[in-house]
Amino acid sequence: MSTQANRYYDKYKRDQEARTFYKSRAWERCRQMVLVRDHYLCQSCKRNGRLTVANTVHHIKELKNHPELALDMDNLETICPTCHNREHPEKGMREREQKKKRIRVAKESANMEIT
Ligand SMILES: [Zn+2]
Ligand SMILES: [Zn+2]
Repeated sequence: MSTQANRYYDKYKRDQEARTFYKSRAWERCRQMVLVRDHYLCQSCKRNGRLTVANTVHHIKELKNHPELALDMDNLETICPTCHNREHPEKGMREREQKKKRIRVAKESANMEIT
């Protein structure tokens, strides 16, 4: 297998594992416990003095890098979608890039109409 194919396979396998994990009953139970512990409030907002209701549970140390902390309550916190996007800048950056690309395409087609 080429290195690239290998990497693709690894990513695929990791995604599969993550999907299985997020569907597991152990995770569901742990997630509920974290939400109750955090009173369904975004912990990141709370640190900034804001109270935001949230129902996403975030792995402080990423699941893929620290699978051993997958169900560790100390590694989990309730987070709102806004803060969650900030916690995963890589994901956000990709979205921003795509948006930029869409704007560029829109501008290019606008230019085409002028000429
Ligand atoms: Zn928040
Ligand atoms: Zn997260």
